[in-house]
Amino acid sequence: TAGSGTAPREPGRLTVLAGPTAVGKGTIAAYVRTHFPGVWFSVSMTTRKPRPGEVDGVHYHFVDDQEFDRLVVAGEFLEHAVVHGVAKYGTPRGPVERAIREGRDALLEIDLQGARQVRVTWPDALFVFLAPPSWDELVRRLVGRGTEDEGERRRRLDTAQAELAAQFEFDRVVVNDDVRRASEELVSLMRSGRPGR
Ligand code: 5GP
Repeated sequence: TAGSGTAPREPGRLTVLAGPTAVGKGTIAAYVRTHFPGVWFSVSMTTRKPRPGEVDGVHYHFVDDQEFDRLVVAGEFLEHAVVHGVAKYGTPRGPVERAIREGRDALLEIDLQGARQVRVTWPDALFVFLAPPSWDELVRRLVGRGTEDEGERRRRLDTAQAELAAQFEFDRVVVNDDVRRASEELVSLMRSGRPGR
Protein backbone atom coordinates (compact mmCIF):
# COMPACT_ATOMS: atom_id res chain seq x y z
CA THR A 1 0.00 0.00 0.00
CA ALA A 2 1.03 3.63 -0.36
CA GLY A 3 3.51 4.67 2.30
CA SER A 4 4.92 1.22 2.89
CA GLY A 5 8.36 0.11 1.77
CA THR A 6 11.15 2.63 1.58
CA ALA A 7 9.28 5.68 0.23
CA PRO A 8 9.89 8.62 2.57
CA ARG A 9 6.77 9.60 4.36
CA GLU A 10 5.67 12.99 5.53
CA PRO A 11 5.84 13.16 9.33
CA GLY A 12 2.58 13.29 11.23
CA ARG A 13 1.49 16.16 13.43
CA LEU A 14 1.25 16.30 17.20
CA THR A 15 -1.87 17.86 18.74
CA VAL A 16 -2.26 18.62 22.44
CA LEU A 17 -5.78 18.78 23.87
CA ALA A 18 -6.13 20.42 27.28
CA GLY A 19 -8.80 22.26 29.21
CA PRO A 20 -10.26 22.95 32.63
CA THR A 21 -11.50 20.29 35.03
CA ALA A 22 -14.99 18.98 34.26
CA VAL A 23 -15.04 20.29 30.69
CA GLY A 24 -15.32 16.80 29.16
CA LYS A 25 -11.85 16.09 27.73
CA GLY A 26 -12.19 12.40 28.45
CA THR A 27 -15.54 12.20 26.64
CA ILE A 28 -14.15 13.96 23.58
CA ALA A 29 -11.10 11.68 23.56
CA ALA A 30 -13.33 8.59 23.80
CA TYR A 31 -15.47 9.81 20.90
CA VAL A 32 -12.43 10.50 18.70
CA ARG A 33 -10.98 7.08 19.56
CA THR A 34 -14.16 5.34 18.41
CA HIS A 35 -15.02 7.42 15.36
CA PHE A 36 -11.60 8.40 14.01
CA PRO A 37 -9.39 5.29 14.13
CA GLY A 38 -6.75 7.12 12.05
CA VAL A 39 -5.84 9.26 15.09
CA TRP A 40 -2.99 7.85 17.18
CA PHE A 41 -3.38 8.17 20.96
CA SER A 42 -0.52 8.43 23.38
CA VAL A 43 -0.82 6.10 26.38
CA SER A 44 0.28 7.99 29.50
CA MET A 45 2.14 6.62 32.49
CA THR A 46 0.55 7.16 35.86
CA THR A 47 1.20 6.29 39.48
CA ARG A 48 -2.50 6.12 40.33
CA LYS A 49 -4.22 2.78 40.75
CA PRO A 50 -6.27 1.35 37.86
CA ARG A 51 -10.02 1.84 38.10
CA PRO A 52 -12.35 -1.07 37.41
CA GLY A 53 -12.31 -1.80 33.68
CA GLU A 54 -9.01 -0.03 33.00
CA VAL A 55 -6.38 -2.12 31.24
CA ASP A 56 -2.63 -1.67 31.74
CA GLY A 57 -1.05 -0.57 28.47
CA VAL A 58 -4.39 0.48 26.98
CA HIS A 59 -5.82 3.25 29.18
CA TYR A 60 -2.57 3.93 31.01
CA HIS A 61 0.73 2.31 31.82
CA PHE A 62 0.38 1.86 35.57
CA VAL A 63 3.73 2.19 37.34
CA ASP A 64 4.89 2.77 40.90
CA ASP A 65 6.43 5.98 42.17
CA GLN A 66 9.97 4.68 42.00
CA GLU A 67 9.69 3.57 38.37
CA PHE A 68 8.06 6.88 37.42
CA ASP A 69 10.87 8.89 39.00
CA ARG A 70 13.45 6.71 37.28
CA LEU A 71 11.87 7.53 33.89
CA VAL A 72 11.86 11.24 34.75
CA VAL A 73 15.59 11.16 35.48
CA ALA A 74 16.23 9.16 32.30
CA GLY A 75 14.51 11.91 30.27
CA GLU A 76 11.85 9.53 28.99
CA PHE A 77 8.94 11.98 29.26
CA LEU A 78 7.80 14.72 26.88
CA GLU A 79 6.06 16.20 29.91
CA HIS A 80 5.03 15.05 33.35
CA ALA A 81 3.03 16.53 36.21
CA VAL A 82 1.30 15.85 39.49
CA VAL A 83 -2.39 16.17 38.69
CA HIS A 84 -4.99 17.24 41.29
CA GLY A 85 -2.18 17.00 43.86
CA VAL A 86 -2.58 13.23 43.95
CA ALA A 87 -0.84 11.11 41.32
CA LYS A 88 1.94 11.59 38.78
CA TYR A 89 1.15 11.46 35.05
CA GLY A 90 3.51 11.63 32.11
CA THR A 91 3.71 11.23 28.33
CA PRO A 92 6.39 8.76 27.21
CA ARG A 93 8.55 10.40 24.55
CA GLY A 94 9.56 7.37 22.45
CA PRO A 95 6.14 6.21 21.19
CA VAL A 96 5.13 9.78 20.25
CA GLU A 97 8.34 10.31 18.27
CA ARG A 98 7.82 6.98 16.50
CA ALA A 99 4.17 7.72 15.61
CA ILE A 100 5.07 11.14 14.20
CA ARG A 101 7.96 9.66 12.22
CA GLU A 102 5.61 7.06 10.78
CA GLY A 103 3.30 9.81 9.54
CA ARG A 104 0.51 9.45 12.10
CA ASP A 105 -1.53 12.32 13.48
CA ALA A 106 -1.08 11.98 17.21
CA LEU A 107 -3.19 13.29 20.08
CA LEU A 108 -2.20 13.97 23.69
CA GLU A 109 -5.02 14.48 26.18
CA ILE A 110 -3.22 16.01 29.16
CA ASP A 111 -3.65 18.64 31.84
CA LEU A 112 -2.67 22.32 31.54
CA GLN A 113 0.67 21.95 33.33
CA GLY A 114 1.61 19.24 30.85
CA ALA A 115 0.48 21.30 27.84
CA ARG A 116 2.74 24.16 28.97
CA GLN A 117 5.71 21.80 29.09
CA VAL A 118 5.02 20.43 25.61
CA ARG A 119 5.11 24.04 24.35
CA VAL A 120 8.80 23.85 25.26
CA THR A 121 9.63 20.22 24.40
CA TRP A 122 7.59 20.09 21.15
CA PRO A 123 6.97 23.67 20.01
CA ASP A 124 5.63 22.57 16.61
CA ALA A 125 2.60 20.88 18.18
CA LEU A 126 -0.90 22.25 17.68
CA PHE A 127 -2.36 23.36 21.03
CA VAL A 128 -6.13 23.05 21.34
CA PHE A 129 -8.04 24.26 24.39
CA LEU A 130 -11.37 22.60 25.14
CA ALA A 131 -13.69 25.21 26.66
CA PRO A 132 -17.11 24.96 28.30
CA PRO A 133 -20.03 26.61 26.43
CA SER A 134 -20.04 29.39 29.03
CA TRP A 135 -18.74 30.35 32.45
CA ASP A 136 -22.24 29.84 33.91
CA GLU A 137 -22.40 26.34 32.49
CA LEU A 138 -19.03 25.46 34.05
CA VAL A 139 -20.20 26.83 37.40
CA ARG A 140 -23.33 24.69 37.11
CA ARG A 141 -21.23 21.60 36.38
CA LEU A 142 -18.84 22.31 39.24
CA VAL A 143 -21.23 23.31 42.00
CA GLY A 144 -24.51 21.91 40.69
CA ARG A 145 -24.60 18.90 42.96
CA GLY A 146 -24.73 21.13 46.03
CA THR A 147 -22.64 18.65 48.01
CA GLU A 148 -19.69 20.96 48.66
CA ASP A 149 -19.54 23.56 51.38
CA GLU A 150 -18.93 27.25 50.67
CA GLY A 151 -15.13 27.03 51.00
CA GLU A 152 -14.83 24.06 48.68
CA ARG A 153 -17.09 25.75 46.11
CA ARG A 154 -14.97 28.89 46.18
CA ARG A 155 -11.78 26.84 45.79
CA ARG A 156 -13.14 25.02 42.76
CA LEU A 157 -14.37 28.20 41.12
CA ASP A 158 -10.98 29.86 41.70
CA THR A 159 -9.28 26.91 40.03
CA ALA A 160 -11.75 26.92 37.13
CA GLN A 161 -11.27 30.66 36.56
CA ALA A 162 -7.48 30.33 36.46
CA GLU A 163 -7.77 27.33 34.14
CA LEU A 164 -10.10 29.16 31.76
CA ALA A 165 -7.67 32.06 31.54
CA ALA A 166 -5.13 29.63 30.09
CA GLN A 167 -7.10 29.40 26.84
CA PHE A 168 -5.26 32.49 25.60
CA GLU A 169 -2.01 30.50 25.56
CA PHE A 170 -3.48 28.09 23.00
CA ASP A 171 -3.56 28.08 19.18
CA ARG A 172 -7.24 27.17 19.00
CA VAL A 173 -10.27 26.97 21.26
CA VAL A 174 -12.93 24.31 20.72
CA VAL A 175 -16.19 24.77 22.62
CA ASN A 176 -17.63 21.57 24.05
CA ASP A 177 -21.28 22.35 23.37
CA ASP A 178 -21.91 18.96 21.78
CA VAL A 179 -19.58 15.96 21.93
CA ARG A 180 -19.91 14.96 18.30
CA ARG A 181 -19.59 18.49 16.92
CA ALA A 182 -16.63 19.36 19.13
CA SER A 183 -14.86 16.07 18.29
CA GLU A 184 -15.29 16.65 14.57
CA GLU A 185 -13.95 20.18 14.89
CA LEU A 186 -10.93 18.89 16.82
CA VAL A 187 -10.12 16.27 14.19
CA SER A 188 -10.49 18.75 11.35
CA LEU A 189 -8.10 21.13 13.16
CA MET A 190 -5.63 18.26 13.60
CA ARG A 191 -5.76 17.65 9.87
CA SER A 192 -5.56 21.28 8.77
CA GLY A 193 -2.56 22.09 10.92
CA ARG A 194 -1.31 24.93 12.95
CA PRO A 195 -2.26 28.53 12.12
CA GLY A 196 0.49 30.40 10.32
CA ARG A 197 2.14 27.30 8.87
P1 5GP B 1 -7.69 10.43 35.28
O1 5GP B 1 -6.89 10.00 36.45
O2 5GP B 1 -9.09 10.82 35.64
O3 5GP B 1 -7.64 9.45 34.15
O4 5GP B 1 -7.01 11.75 34.69
C1 5GP B 1 -6.89 12.87 35.51
C2 5GP B 1 -6.24 14.03 34.76
O5 5GP B 1 -4.91 13.67 34.34
C3 5GP B 1 -6.96 14.47 33.48
O6 5GP B 1 -7.10 15.90 33.56
C4 5GP B 1 -6.01 14.12 32.37
O7 5GP B 1 -6.06 15.07 31.32
C5 5GP B 1 -4.68 14.19 33.06
N1 5GP B 1 -3.65 13.38 32.39
C6 5GP B 1 -3.78 12.12 31.88
N2 5GP B 1 -2.62 11.70 31.35
C7 5GP B 1 -1.74 12.73 31.49
C8 5GP B 1 -0.36 12.92 31.12
O8 5GP B 1 0.31 12.05 30.54
N3 5GP B 1 0.21 14.10 31.47
C9 5GP B 1 -0.48 15.10 32.11
N4 5GP B 1 0.17 16.22 32.38
N5 5GP B 1 -1.77 14.95 32.47
C10 5GP B 1 -2.39 13.79 32.17
